[in-house]
This record gives sequence, C-alpha cells and structure tokens, in this order.
Amino acid sequence: SLADKIRIRPAIVPAPVATASSPSTRPGKLHTVVSMPGNIDSETTKKTMAKLINPSKDNIIITKCQPLPNGKVRVAFGNPQSQQKFIAATKESKQLTCEPPRSTNALIYLKGIPKAVSLERIHRTIVQFNPSISNIITKEQSSPEDAIKLVFKRNNRKDHLINCGLSVLPPIRDHIMTQTNGRVLVEFDQIHVEDCSPLKQCFNCHLFHHYAKDCKVSQSVCTHCAQQHLFQECPNRNLPPTCANCSRAGASVVNHTSFSPECPVLLKMQRRMFDQKHSK
Ligand SMILES: [Zn+2]
Ligand SMILES: [Zn+2]
Ligand SMILES: [Zn+2]
Repeated sequence: SLADKIRIRPAIVPAPVATASSPSTRPGKLHTVVSMPGNIDSETTKKTMAKLINPSKDNIIITKCQPLPNGKVRVAFGNPQSQQKFIAATKESKQLTCEPPRSTNALIYLKGIPKAVSLERIHRTIVQFNPSISNIITKEQSSPEDAIKLVFKRNNRKDHLINCGLSVLPPIRDHIMTQTNGRVLVEFDQIHVEDCSPLKQCFNCHLFHHYAKDCKVSQSVCTHCAQQHLFQECPNRNLPPTCANCSRAGASVVNHTSFSPECPVLLKMQRRMFDQKHSK
C-alpha cells in the first residue's frame, strides 16, 4: 500500500525525544495568573501586588511578571514553594485573585487515528513525528509523559479508525490550533485536532465550573491536605497530599492534590464536559 511505501522512506528522521525531568524542575507549571476584580489595567494589578506582597520577607522567588489583557498578570516562580506562598498571600490580601494553574486543563480531541497506532504510546508518537511539539516540550522543560496524556478513547464512524481526547500543555494546544492548522502527524497520517474548551477549577474550594473569584465557599480548602485552612498554615505539609474531590467522593486513593492531572475526578469531569459538548 501507499502507507507502506511512505513508511520505508529514509529521509524522515524522527525528532529526538525530550528527556524526563523531575517535577521540581518544571517551570512550565510554576506560574499563576493574577487579577483584581473590577480592574482591567494590568499595571494597576502589578502595583497592587507590589504593595501587598513582600517577596524577600516571605522568601518568594518570582522569575517573571508578564502583563496580560483584561488587567491580568502572569507570574512565574523559581520553585513550587514560592508559587504556593504567593497564592496564599494573594488569597489573604482579599484584593487579588489567582486563577488555578491552566496547565493541566488544555484538552484536545484527535479524530481518525488508524487503529494500528498504539494509543498508550500516543505521547511518544506525537513527539517523534512533530518536531515543533518536541521543541515546545523541551522549552517547557517537561517530558512527553507529562506534556501529553491520554484522557479517553471514542469510536470513529469508520471501523479502522479511532478518536481520542488528550490533555496537553497549553502551549502545545495553542501551537496546533494556530501554527499547524489544527493537525498533527501520527505516524505518517495528518490527524485532525479539535480544541475542547478548558475545564474551570476553583483554587478556593477545588470544585469545577468556576474560578476562585466567583467562589461561594468562604473557608479556603488547603491545596495540600484538603482541610479548612490556607496552605501557608498547613500543619500536614510533611504528610502526603490529600485530594479534596476524591475525599468528597469517598475514593480509596486520595494521595494526590485536587489539581493533579492524574486525579480520577478531574479526568471524569473532562470526559463529561467533552460528552456534553459533542452530544449537542
Ligand atoms: Zn470554589
Ligand atoms: Zn493543609
Ligand atoms: Zn483526586
């Protein structure tokens, strides 16, 4: 077949696979987006941050501060502790709000993958055949496993094809949607990609479909132990994390945070949102 002929063409050299790195050295995830309710000027947000937060006093390492539209500011941190302290400090200020990290939430849908392709290895295949995506993963200091995760599979109308939902780093989604015309190469087939709207998750109560600025729950849920206090005051930081949503659901495995891309409740919400969108 034509596919077999293309497969043996020697000119195509797969891109080098990005190497894995430990979670503490992934600055791609170490950021937050700060806003002030009612304010659309990012300079005002920055000035308010400077007034309310004292990085040297609290030992918060900020590596970058970038203005965004609608008064938002993207703040990047030198380590996870700095990120957590900063988020706790903005919460305490009552004037600033942080959006939860967006990095776990970009969901894309690939349509018409040949069934011969292993979906369990889809992250490696995408990295091998799309050098530009491999470069993004390297730049974000992530790994194929962390940057591209299989969330669900769906039947295609054609029997020999399959569809799947992938959770990807937002820069990968942005790249596919703006630079490659909504397509990725999987082995030597051009696969059509749809953008699925991100799932909102609240940093205050850890529930879904709203952000902290719209949260009705007055007592913050700890991002580490899921009890009712700020992370900064958490007495359980030496213990493994507890997922608030899996605890609420009575799950037996709760030793991850509510924002972990591995969280079964988060994955279920992503699948449910996708089904609602595609049943209309
Ligand atoms: Zn909430
Ligand atoms: Zn706690
Ligand atoms: Zn969970």
